[in-house]
Amino acid sequence: MKRDTRQHAYLKAMGIDVWVPRDVASTVMEAPVIEDTHSVTARVVNEGSKDFSQSYRGASLINSLDWTDLKQQVENCQLCELHATRKQAVFGVGNQQADWLIIGEAPGADEDRQGEPFVGRAGQLLNEMLKAIGLQREQVYIANILKCRPPNNRDPKPEEAASCSPYLQRQIELIQPKVILALGRIAAQRLLQCNTSLARLRGQLHQLETISSPLIVTYHPAYLLRSPAEKRKAWQDLQFARKYVEQAMQMESG
Ligand code: URA
Repeated sequence: MKRDTRQHAYLKAMGIDVWVPRDVASTVMEAPVIEDTHSVTARVVNEGSKDFSQSYRGASLINSLDWTDLKQQVENCQLCELHATRKQAVFGVGNQQADWLIIGEAPGADEDRQGEPFVGRAGQLLNEMLKAIGLQREQVYIANILKCRPPNNRDPKPEEAASCSPYLQRQIELIQPKVILALGRIAAQRLLQCNTSLARLRGQLHQLETISSPLIVTYHPAYLLRSPAEKRKAWQDLQFARKYVEQAMQMESG
């Protein structure tokens, strides 16, 4: 069965309506907020025609690279101004056959120094969050929207994210994870190409036409360090994602 068809079959079997909207923007806005009781019966939002990986010269070349060449391309990348201030590019780390792909915003100072995503305090909390759902860091793949650190950890500029997105798109294609977990507003909005608040994006299984894996949104661990009271909601998001992956695996083996 084709991957999308198979995925839709899982979702149907799990009682999730695959909802293909007529109007993409209004779909995002009208999506239900599932505040406290995430369940796998949440509605699937199909973000239809949007493409988070905007094309530019060279993007089609990136689509065909293997892991080694992709990493080299990222390490040598000078497509945006961030190459001038980075210590090194932060490609991504983890299991290249992972069921889970975790996507953050951009490297910070620690990551820029060490060349690995999520190695600072936020990374330690991310490791704990993963452990809470029975996952070791090494089992998942971790990447960011941007491969290079923005100076003073400012938000990514749209043109930086656009330059970087074919790299992430290729990583997604190579991994083909069962689920993508977007950490925080910036990663979620960039991947879903919307301006919807994080609160509204949580609690749903988002299905983009341009990304074969469904996407679930949760809080960024750096935010949770500042607002520990929100950890309870992040826990709900993680359980929601875990349930989805478990059921998808059951469907696959049965
Ligand atoms: N925050 C992110 O979004 N990514 C990292 O790699 C580190 C901190």
